[in-house]
Amino acid sequence: MHNFEYKNPTKLIFGTHQIEKLADELRLLDAKKVMLVYGGGSIKKNGTYEEVVAELNNASIDFVDFAGVEPNPRIETVRRAVKQAREENIDALLAVGGGSVIDCTKLISAAIPYEGDAWDIVLRDHIPTEAVPFGTVLTLAATGSEMNSGSVITNWETQEKYGWGHPLVYPTFSILDPRYTVSVPKDQTIYGIVDMMSHCFEQYFHPNHAPVQERMTEGVLKAVVESAPKLVDDLENVELRAIILFAGTIALNGVLQMGASGDWASHNIEHAVSAVHDIPHAGGLAILFPRWMEHVLDADNAARFARLGTEVFDVEPAGDDLETAKQTIEAIRAFFDKLGAPSSLRDYDIDASSFDAILDSAMKRGAFGNFRTLEREDVAHILELSK
Ligand code: NAP
Ligand code: FE
Repeated sequence: MHNFEYKNPTKLIFGTHQIEKLADELRLLDAKKVMLVYGGGSIKKNGTYEEVVAELNNASIDFVDFAGVEPNPRIETVRRAVKQAREENIDALLAVGGGSVIDCTKLISAAIPYEGDAWDIVLRDHIPTEAVPFGTVLTLAATGSEMNSGSVITNWETQEKYGWGHPLVYPTFSILDPRYTVSVPKDQTIYGIVDMMSHCFEQYFHPNHAPVQERMTEGVLKAVVESAPKLVDDLENVELRAIILFAGTIALNGVLQMGASGDWASHNIEHAVSAVHDIPHAGGLAILFPRWMEHVLDADNAARFARLGTEVFDVEPAGDDLETAKQTIEAIRAFFDKLGAPSSLRDYDIDASSFDAILDSAMKRGAFGNFRTLEREDVAHILELSK
């Protein structure tokens, strides 16, 4: 375990009908005019928008809408929102949606006070020194963005999709009402489950010795493995929605990564795939992660895979770790199959003709991965395995 500091300033407000706390939280921000940031309209269909707006109106909080944040949010959308926010003298933001809406809001918040282009912040050419405060009302269990300081933004022109982050863009508060996630369709529910499991895997496969973090990660994964198949068959079950909602937050609020670095190569590869093909983030992860596992597995690291299998996926220990590790990867693939997640890039009509573009995008910042460093040929092999 290496030295670390941990501070997470986001106030988590979890449970049904907790929207009643919204106005008080916004008053604490001393907000005079709030920009309500949301996506393509699901919040209007499922009643979330109505509940949020009722709270704002009851408390006489002035607000304007910024709608239309797309899944895999784009830099042009951020630029548009920043322009509108400056024109309207916005002094607080409220993200209502899934990870895409929250990630987009984070960059809007850091870009409003910055005179240059928002993309500079994603490229880390500009390090934010101030940010407009914001809260979130989460509607989809997946990314953990509601309680972390990371954000992923796509630049379609340059075929780049990058994560960036800064302590200034932790949400000030996040309201998590499982009722708001009941309308998430089956495919997005599955993607969310795969994303939070992938966040656990990314942090489990690290090069350090960190037994506390590993046991915590196994615990979160186990809860997801027990509940997720039931939820996929019973989408309106608010209890199961709540378990998965909380798991998604814990999986990526920094708790599981304290004292260990995580790997993050599979996320990097997925970002490159979705920088070239606009596919759902965790649809890509479901395909790529088991292939990354196959690619990096060797006799020296097999014990970590084997333990994951026996502790979380009910794999029977075989004679040696390498064999158990192989069965673990099969068990994870089988679990994703049982959920109904995609298994091959063909499922998204992606074939080898775009691999060069994906590899160019993936390797723009050089080799990556902490559990095992991946060069271009490694990523090429993982894509081949994923065909
Ligand atoms: P999302 O892209 O925010 O949403 C996916 C779809 O689900 C959208 O069409 C959205 O509709 C819909 N949706 C959301 N809530 C719904 C509800 N309650 N009922 C019905 N439909 C609903 O999905 P996400 O998986 O949360 O976010 C994915 C993005 O986050 C990717 O760009 C990924 O790279 C990024 N990410 C970020 C982090 C991080 O730590 N910051 C970690 C992992 C991934 P609307 O458009 O109407 O909202
Ligand atoms: Fe993710």
